[in-house]
Amino acid sequence: TTTGVWNFGAGPATMPKSVLKKAQTDLLNYKNTGMSVMEISHRSKEYEKLNNEAQKNLRDLLEIPENYKILFMQGGGHTQFSAVVLNLLVVKRRQFEDSTEGGKEEFNPPLDYLVTGSWSQKAVEEAKKLYNNVNVALDVKKLRGSYGSIPPQEEWKLSGPSAAYVYYCDNETVNGVEFNHVPDIDPSVPLVCDMSSNLLSRKVNISKFGMIYAGAQKNIGPAGVTVVIVREDLLATPKPSVDVPAVPSMLSYKVLADHNSLYNTPPVFAIYMSDLVFEWLLENGGIEAIEKVNFIKASRLYDCIKNSKIYRSPIEESVRSRMNVPFRIEPEELEKEFLKGAEELGMVQLKGHRSVGGIRASIYNAMPLEGVDTLIKYMQEFEKKHS
Ligand code: PMP
Repeated sequence: TTTGVWNFGAGPATMPKSVLKKAQTDLLNYKNTGMSVMEISHRSKEYEKLNNEAQKNLRDLLEIPENYKILFMQGGGHTQFSAVVLNLLVVKRRQFEDSTEGGKEEFNPPLDYLVTGSWSQKAVEEAKKLYNNVNVALDVKKLRGSYGSIPPQEEWKLSGPSAAYVYYCDNETVNGVEFNHVPDIDPSVPLVCDMSSNLLSRKVNISKFGMIYAGAQKNIGPAGVTVVIVREDLLATPKPSVDVPAVPSMLSYKVLADHNSLYNTPPVFAIYMSDLVFEWLLENGGIEAIEKVNFIKASRLYDCIKNSKIYRSPIEESVRSRMNVPFRIEPEELEKEFLKGAEELGMVQLKGHRSVGGIRASIYNAMPLEGVDTLIKYMQEFEKKHS
């Protein structure tokens, strides 16, 4: 690398060097304005162009159908934990009003959650603060004793068509568990997905989802912007006469969509950087190309773990994340020495999340194959030294 460092951090995470260099070049003079992009008005024609181009680039990359809106929101993944609940309850309430003509029954649809790791667990906790009928349809820790697998759908307790939505996290960043399929749910129920740590890493069939969101600071750009992809029929406002909790404007997908993500001052710099990443992906063969490299990187790293006597993956093979690779060293006392030695060689931020310990190598799009190969070489030498 240009700095001599391989950054395996889970987020904020490594960014493509060419993107950082482009930002450096643009910094003092964005598109001949004589100002940086941080200094121009978000109501200027330059920003309007950037806002639209970033959306178009993302739409091209992910082949997002026309009936989906792309929103740039703030507040990170955590804010979406609440925004999802408020927005989608409004949608369900509207359907309820239309079908019961004023509502003789009580309105209390379940919200279905699949808990496969600590981020989906966190989403459940936030939902419960706002609503009293949260149905945890799957809790892997309860079912299996620990996170690290995704039991088959026959073991889930989904509510069926009565649910306001089904929520899951496609890639659990802390636990290293990634879905290898899209859950097959009742087609009338919106499927909601947290793709914070794997959006743009592989092809997604967007049309299977009601909405998808992703905090930028892993695979997209710097922290500060959250990408939301939402189907247009989920942009509802409550009927004026109906008493549902109001959605604060800053959390409302409808408000953001109506204002083309310019309701208030957007995080201009984060969106600018994200667009540079979109361009970088497009220039390098798009999602198809990066998906192939991601597969090779993850396969090599998991093979190294499999062929070793001291490294161990706690994750069931079929759901191992291609983005976040957690592993343990046996005996565990060696982990400290492993991290120290790695750091001395410029391989940084390899420490596992504080809640689970161990080692975690995050190998997002911007981590080149060479970085993964360097890590593998170090792992093999470390093992030799300790056997
Ligand atoms: N979801 C996932 C999958 C994450 O990895 C994270 C952050 N690590 C979050 C949500 C929370 O994101 P934020 O810190 O932006 O609130």
